[in-house]
Amino acid sequence: MTEAGRDCTERGSDDDAFALDLDHAEAILPRYEGPGPRYTSYPTAPVWTSAYGPDDHARDLAALRPADGLALYAHVPFCESLCHFCACNRIITHDVALPERYLDTIEREIAAVRDLAQQAAQASQLHWGGGTPTHLSPAQIRRLFRAMTDAFPLRGGAEVSIEVDPRVTTREQVEALRELGFDRISLGVQDVEPRVQQAIHRVQPPSTTAALVDDARRAGFASVNFDLIYGLPFQREDTFARTLDTVLAIGPDRIALYSYAHVTWVAKQQRGFERQDLPDAPTKLRILLLAIRRLLHAGYVYVGMDHFARPDDELSRALRDRTLRRNFMGYTTQAGAALLGFGPSAISELPSSYAQNERELGAWENAVRERGLATLRGHRLSAEDEERRFAISRIMCHGELSAAEWSSRFGRPFATAYAGELASLDTLESDGLVVRANDGSLRVTPLGRLLVRNVAMAFDAYLPEQQRTGARLFSRAV
Ligand code: SF4
Repeated sequence: MTEAGRDCTERGSDDDAFALDLDHAEAILPRYEGPGPRYTSYPTAPVWTSAYGPDDHARDLAALRPADGLALYAHVPFCESLCHFCACNRIITHDVALPERYLDTIEREIAAVRDLAQQAAQASQLHWGGGTPTHLSPAQIRRLFRAMTDAFPLRGGAEVSIEVDPRVTTREQVEALRELGFDRISLGVQDVEPRVQQAIHRVQPPSTTAALVDDARRAGFASVNFDLIYGLPFQREDTFARTLDTVLAIGPDRIALYSYAHVTWVAKQQRGFERQDLPDAPTKLRILLLAIRRLLHAGYVYVGMDHFARPDDELSRALRDRTLRRNFMGYTTQAGAALLGFGPSAISELPSSYAQNERELGAWENAVRERGLATLRGHRLSAEDEERRFAISRIMCHGELSAAEWSSRFGRPFATAYAGELASLDTLESDGLVVRANDGSLRVTPLGRLLVRNVAMAFDAYLPEQQRTGARLFSRAV
């Protein structure tokens, strides 16, 4: 991320950087593979409490102004079968009545939020995630889209995106989505090897994935993303190399390469993975480095953390222009917009607060029926939270933190205010992950981009207590 201005003509140098650092990376990465937040928010979700409730959220919604910008998210929780690696909030069902009930409720929720957020801007981003949003029929897709955009109209050029499961998504659905204005589609792929797919209970032939990409391109989708996961049962370097061959032959515009999160306290079905089936830590690391080298060599830009994009993709341009931002939907080009989340477990991010909905479908339905909002917990940021959020966001999105920018924004010298945090980066600097300047400015190195959350962790005031209590809150960094 520090290489702003990088384009495909520079890919050789990036590739070399990883190749040259391979031995060094293998030596140091085990030191940093422990659990850590992904910093889609700061403070992170485990800090939020029920002390922030629906009345607080209602007040913050009423205070939204057009200048705050707007992004919309809907969580569609339904899936047809359980993928055994999955830690998302989802409901496995074939009950056709449930989606209709869900739509009745989400329409009420949207109307209640609209009544409060009367001065909200036009939306510049809309995203559906899940679960499986294409569990909804074309008619239900149209109904949900209209409910959201009648209440919160989209502005011209808005980014409209959806996550889909290729196993259940039809051409008719793809065409309905495109007609409505969806132009970005994200496909869960994970791995194409039959043995891995059987182990994770997600059999998805590459031909199914390729056919859906063809349908999406024919319908006019501008951007296709693949989600891949490394660290799954039975994966090895040679098997994942075959997955990469297949993926690169299809040629998505973006690739998210996630580390498998073994979080059995959240996803009990993961206990079914015999620990001996999972690749050990060195193998997992070698798979990651192999994937990075292959993707860079194929011309993808390393956008940050686990995201890659073609050089002409908006995310790559935003990285170059330093307009890249991060929210609950991942990296985005929509700078600093307030986010309104609808549906069970959905998160809203307002200028100085976070709010999360009830997670269970029934609890969310009851809450919406009774009071319109379904806020379960949240957090209002303190002045110190705002300072640290700014620093963490710059590190995560730009790979650098300018002390001059921070100091002029918050009215005191960064190096003095955060002397302890800067000193705590000694080991990361000597390991070649970050470079500090005399005024406290930071630059994350290419190798450090792999472990950028470890750099950000130095500025997280809540983390030491979370680590001290030993609570299992976060997945591993690698
Ligand atoms: S990975 Fe996706 S399709 Fe599979 S259970 Fe999880 S949310 Fe559903």
